[in-house]
Amino acid sequence: MLGDLSSTILDKSFKLGLSLLIFLVLFIYTSFATADTIRIGLRAHIGMKKSMQQWEQTADYLSEKIPEHKFIMVPIVGIPELTEEAAQGQFDFVLTNPSSFVEMELRLGATAILTLRNKRQGRPYTKFGAVIFTRKDNDKINEIADLKHKRVVAVSKAAFGGWRVVVSELLNEGFDIYKEAMHISFTGGIQQDVVSIVSLGNADAGVVRTDMLERMAAEGVIDFDDFKILNKKTTKNFPFVHSSQLYPEWPFVKMRDTSSLLSKQVALALLTMPSNNPAAIAGKYVGWTVPEDYQPVHKLMKQLKVGPYRHHHESLFDYIFDDYLIHFIVAVFILIILTVLVLYILSINRLLAAEKTKQDKLMNNLEVRVAERTQDLLVAKNIAENASEAKSLFLSSMSHELRTPLNAVLGFAQLIELDAKERHLTEMGDNVDEIIQAGHHLLELINDVLDLSKIEEGKYELKLIPVGINKLIAETIKLLETQAKEKEITISYKTEVHEQREVLADKRSIKQVFINLISNAIKYNHANGTIDIRVVNTKDDYCKVTITDSGDGIAEEFLGVIFDPFQRVTDRTDILGTGVGLAITKNLVELMDGEIQVESILGKGSTFTILLKLVS
Ligand code: ADP
Repeated sequence: MLGDLSSTILDKSFKLGLSLLIFLVLFIYTSFATADTIRIGLRAHIGMKKSMQQWEQTADYLSEKIPEHKFIMVPIVGIPELTEEAAQGQFDFVLTNPSSFVEMELRLGATAILTLRNKRQGRPYTKFGAVIFTRKDNDKINEIADLKHKRVVAVSKAAFGGWRVVVSELLNEGFDIYKEAMHISFTGGIQQDVVSIVSLGNADAGVVRTDMLERMAAEGVIDFDDFKILNKKTTKNFPFVHSSQLYPEWPFVKMRDTSSLLSKQVALALLTMPSNNPAAIAGKYVGWTVPEDYQPVHKLMKQLKVGPYRHHHESLFDYIFDDYLIHFIVAVFILIILTVLVLYILSINRLLAAEKTKQDKLMNNLEVRVAERTQDLLVAKNIAENASEAKSLFLSSMSHELRTPLNAVLGFAQLIELDAKERHLTEMGDNVDEIIQAGHHLLELINDVLDLSKIEEGKYELKLIPVGINKLIAETIKLLETQAKEKEITISYKTEVHEQREVLADKRSIKQVFINLISNAIKYNHANGTIDIRVVNTKDDYCKVTITDSGDGIAEEFLGVIFDPFQRVTDRTDILGTGVGLAITKNLVELMDGEIQVESILGKGSTFTILLKLVS
């Protein structure tokens, strides 16, 4: 039992140990394998599969020649992606076209260690260029200038031999194809398509790299004589038709961090590769040579402002215009708006400042004028005060100076009247009576004027005490009864106010008020007329006294002035009066915190209403 158990435990430990060992070996192997792998980035311009078929054996050749390393080709179709991977340190070497190399050289510090000796028609060539062609039967295009307003086709805008070389060449000849051609189309496929499109007449002219036409003719795809070459050039030891200068073939590129020992080993291996090596045959090349001069490629890219030179500018002005035109326009636009805004604000400020100065001036003027006006008013006040004093002085002296002789006149007139009666001198008696009446009227007038001026000056002193309103009115009616009877006028009196109720008033003044109003009601009434006096309580504890007569009434237009002094609005000359009574009445009522109103219909009668506060 125990033996079984120990053998199971031993068995398990053995299996575990074995697994660990296998894992360790695999790990070390993988690590070494990774460390040994040399990655060659490959520009797969003819597609991943075809490119691999063409170049895989070159990698194998290197692995064979430098056995401590395993070389692999990493094909990438797009040049931007290839450059990006290279920038991230994914490659030790790169096999790419000249313009792609130039970009890596400038951006990443890559160097060309070899140039490809390409095999064209069985012979090695380290240079290539571009061809512009049209159909032979197209008699409208015979030279470069004829491409104006024509349709041009090429494989890609970024293709080197297949496009850029031609653009540069034509620019050197003073012909900007981008501006001059009517339409430029890029197939995006392979260069053979470009030839087919021109051949079918779907474009007027095409651009391909050198030897493309010869190769297609050799393959029997086209008849070389069906095409016409534009801008034809001849270069010694270069048998293929070409329309441009020639540029170095693809370089074998060493990345900056790749060791020079390894680079040396690779260069040596490739330089010594025999042309009949399977790798060379598959790669369609004869071999490799020391690096060509890639300066013309730099020059071309600089001229076209492409690749690493897309920001290359002759001057700062060009730089701004080419790369930052939109930013520049926006900045200028913003600057203009800001300038306008600043100018606008400045002009507003100026206006405000001017306005402020104006306001300040006005304020100063105003202050001066207020000061002047105040001074005027002070002067006027002084004058008024002096005048008032003079008036008071005048009135008090008038009171004495006029009343004294007037009383003497009245006294002597009454003596004459008695004398005339005794002597039965009727006519003389009547005349003296006239003098007495006129004297009394004058005395009344003097008294009224003096009263009014005292009231207006505030010198009329009132003593407000509770006064029994019912009793007061009854007394007043009694006082004027004889006067009423003389004119056969009936006075009726009704009160709703409790017998004991009192108003707050100055006794002498309130009596004066009622005498004035009732005597007016008699004066301006007709024979057999009526006077109706009523006293009622109002809601807000006021006592309302109305004196309604059946007399002459007052025209509506005069109702507003009858309380002003010296306003007599009656037509009747037989009624004596001073025109001051109502003015005194109103002043007295208001001094006792009361109110007086009038309603009247001409020819029918008037109602005077007085409101007085009841003592609670
Ligand atoms: P007068 O001394 O002339 O009566 P008042 O000041 O008392 O002065 O009245 C001013 C004027 O108001 C009078 O001249 C008269 O024309 C008019 N008046 C006053 N009371 C009445 C009234 N009860 N009926 C008609 N007219 C009146």
